[in-house]
Amino acid sequence: MGYPIAVSPETGSSADRKEVLPRRGLLFNIQRFSIHDGPGIRTTVFFKGCPLRCRWCSNPESWHDHPEIATYAAKCTRCGRCQKVCPVNAIAVSDRERTIDRQACNLCLKCGEVCPTGAIAITGQWMTVAEVMKEVEADGLFYVNSGGGVTLSGGEPLAQWEFALDLLRECQAKAFHTALDTCGYALWEVLDKVLDYTDLVLYDIKHMDPGRHTEGTGKTNGLILDNARRTAAKRRTWLRVPLIPGYNDSVENLEAVARFGLEIGAEKVSLLPYHVWGQSKWERLGRKYPLEALPMPPESWAGECRKVIESLGLKATVGR
Ligand code: SF4
Ligand code: SF4
Repeated sequence: MGYPIAVSPETGSSADRKEVLPRRGLLFNIQRFSIHDGPGIRTTVFFKGCPLRCRWCSNPESWHDHPEIATYAAKCTRCGRCQKVCPVNAIAVSDRERTIDRQACNLCLKCGEVCPTGAIAITGQWMTVAEVMKEVEADGLFYVNSGGGVTLSGGEPLAQWEFALDLLRECQAKAFHTALDTCGYALWEVLDKVLDYTDLVLYDIKHMDPGRHTEGTGKTNGLILDNARRTAAKRRTWLRVPLIPGYNDSVENLEAVARFGLEIGAEKVSLLPYHVWGQSKWERLGRKYPLEALPMPPESWAGECRKVIESLGLKATVGR
């Protein structure tokens, strides 16, 4: 986990990707009619694989670059099919419940394939560019009428940068506006190539202080800030800040974000207020949510944070 994208053992190397022909991308969602991921009505394509481990992550199913299993206890009828097919005896079904020993699980996914109710679901689907484009093109008229388009998000799209590039190129060939939502933790050479087919960049800034950035995400921010400068010099850029109470919402940090945005020529800062919708996803993946005890701030909170940024002369919005 010590490397930026394109050389990371976790996210896979360029050579690894070329072994899969025709090239396919591992996605965990395609969300139509999205209004929070760039201008207008958009289709957001969510990639699996991410080099960061944000403690507030609302899409923890995006972290790994392989399919995995998510569980929905309320849907389980305790039929026992999953237990029968599990090759490593990781599943136990009793009169009361079905449990999975995730240490023993080898991710063969057989349980997800046989479960009749969706109580075990497979997260992550390999798709070709043509398959994704079929979904994207269905909403082409909405993009035109609303000034929208297609956004690549995740996870981190650059974790599968060659597939991202192919997809963006295909979208632009159809005259669809393209946006890239990125954490920026990638080799510049990779990001630079992908930007050639990107109209707008939604560039995530979690914290301006390197130490605090590492605390929250597992990685420091030097490379991310360097790439942000080069990105904004090349493409329209909106900075995106996931607003986490007590972590990055201090006046000092928000002012630092605003000054950085002004310095690099970002068009605006999008503030994305903290929410707990992702918590159940952590549990379904067998992980413990680290921010369980975090109190929700008052409703006026995000607006106050917006004012701090705008007071320095940079546009800021809440929620998109
Ligand atoms: S196959 Fe699905 S419904 Fe049946 S016991 Fe397993 S998880 Fe529950
Ligand atoms: S994915 Fe894991 S729990 Fe499910 S059948 Fe395979 S080894 Fe067993």
